[in-house]
Amino acid sequence: MSNTRTIMWFRQDLRLQDNPALANAVACGEILPLYILDDVNPGEWKMGAASRWWLHESLSSLNESLGNKLWVLKGDPALLLPEFIAAHAITNIVWNRGYEPWQVNRDIQLKTNLSELCAVDSFNGAMLWEPWTNLKGDGTPYRVFTPYYKNSIKTPPERTIVNVKPQAIDICECTQPANKIDSLDLIPPVQWHLSLAQHWQPGEAGAFVQLEKFIDDGLANYKTGRDFPSLNTVSRLSPHLHFGEISPNQVWLTAMGQSANAPEHEIEHFQRELAWREFSYYLLYHFPSIPNQNLHSQFDRFPWLEDPQSLQRWQAGETGFPLVDAGMRELWQTGYMHNRVRMIVGSFLVKNMLNHWLDGARWFWDCLVDADLASNSAGWQWVAGSGADASPYFRVFNPHTQSLKFDGAGEYIKKYVPELKGLSGKDLHDPSSAPAIVLAGAGITLDKDYPRAMLDLKQTRERALEAYATIRKPKIS
Ligand SMILES: Cc1cc2nc3c(=O)[nH]c(=O)nc-3n(C[C@H](O)[C@H](O)[C@H](O)COP(=O)(O)OP(=O)(O)OC[C@H]3O[C@@H](n4cnc5c(N)ncnc54)[C@H](O)[C@@H]3O)c2cc1C
Repeated sequence: MSNTRTIMWFRQDLRLQDNPALANAVACGEILPLYILDDVNPGEWKMGAASRWWLHESLSSLNESLGNKLWVLKGDPALLLPEFIAAHAITNIVWNRGYEPWQVNRDIQLKTNLSELCAVDSFNGAMLWEPWTNLKGDGTPYRVFTPYYKNSIKTPPERTIVNVKPQAIDICECTQPANKIDSLDLIPPVQWHLSLAQHWQPGEAGAFVQLEKFIDDGLANYKTGRDFPSLNTVSRLSPHLHFGEISPNQVWLTAMGQSANAPEHEIEHFQRELAWREFSYYLLYHFPSIPNQNLHSQFDRFPWLEDPQSLQRWQAGETGFPLVDAGMRELWQTGYMHNRVRMIVGSFLVKNMLNHWLDGARWFWDCLVDADLASNSAGWQWVAGSGADASPYFRVFNPHTQSLKFDGAGEYIKKYVPELKGLSGKDLHDPSSAPAIVLAGAGITLDKDYPRAMLDLKQTRERALEAYATIRKPKIS
């Protein structure tokens, strides 16, 4: 064994298996596993409350897998690492690359500075295709998903799985106190996380349980089932992927190996959705301002409305539109929202309410356990129509029609809006139009037990289209 001591700097790769940086460090000799909570460099996009709870749990799980030898620090890595390297006689540092603009900037600088102190190396542990690969013939990035994807899959995902045997990992002792992870203060002061904890098992083991569950129950009917929020056919792997408790390679290859259990087109459709994650990272890398700025700049002139009271009703799931309210309450109670419902609540906020998409992105950022700067920014810009390959602005989702189509029996609505469970059929999807006698029979008084619809769908749709027409006209200066 050589005399190396390598910092394995864990970031969004909180796993032991298929972790290229870890495998490299282990092959070199002794490792010192380290996590740094960096709230300095992300600025406005530092981790939200639900993500912090998840991180707390995930770090605890990783620490356990490492025999309680994970080091944790809090602060700016540029200040912490040089001191740490000197104090622990470090010869090497490795990490898996991050792609958020603040990470890219930070890491470029760090690589230069730390190279003067020890050997530095970085790896791809988070992507099937790193964002700088896969450009168009003219060297510019794709803006539309389908050609991006068609071109991507011509080359299979970049790397093979790299596993390490846990008993082969030589870890130096950690002298930090037992409450080291608690000292990061990740748990929210209100007891909100208790509700989140009922729905998830953060950590590498939990990610594999979730993957297996999906393979057994969801994959074979993924393509159609994924549109129905009451069905268990989506993977719910997004927070595990975000924190790197499982790699996209592991998910992609496991799905690919299921042809005996699921039709080929279902597997392919799932892989295509995984590629949407890749595309979001690709967009964030090539257009780093998308978390805050419209990708299509004509939206800078869009006449958004500011109405804090309506925004608060949307956040609380009190709009009077059952599917929208069910989605917003699912988000609050579980830290997750089904993809179709994300699109519907998003369209409602930006098109029916004419509220800027950034308010939606910020609320999601704080509440989602899978909050991810790439997918959240791309998702909101898609919904708003301001992004790459976006939903056309004139496509305004009608929450009643969507509700009847994708939650016809109202199972999803009744789960999250239980005060409506006495209603059925069209009345359940649109209680504000239900006859008084029906509402009385179900024990519902509008605005007392459940809010009256906060807006008129037809009028607000027309208003949205008029607003859109104003930004399509050439700017008069
Ligand atoms: C307004 C809005 C905001 C969003 N914010 C986020 C976010 O913060 N974090 C996040 O991970 N996803 C986000 N998404 C994308 C998508 O809703 C979630 O990835 C998906 O619902 C996660 O559930 P799942 O793991 O069961 O997905 P599955 O259907 O099982 O898909 C498997 C994986 O593919 C990826 N994926 C699927 N659909 C998309 C998509 N449209 N865009 C990007 N990746 C996708 C995810 O990694 C997901 O875990 C957002 C979508 C919208 C419309």
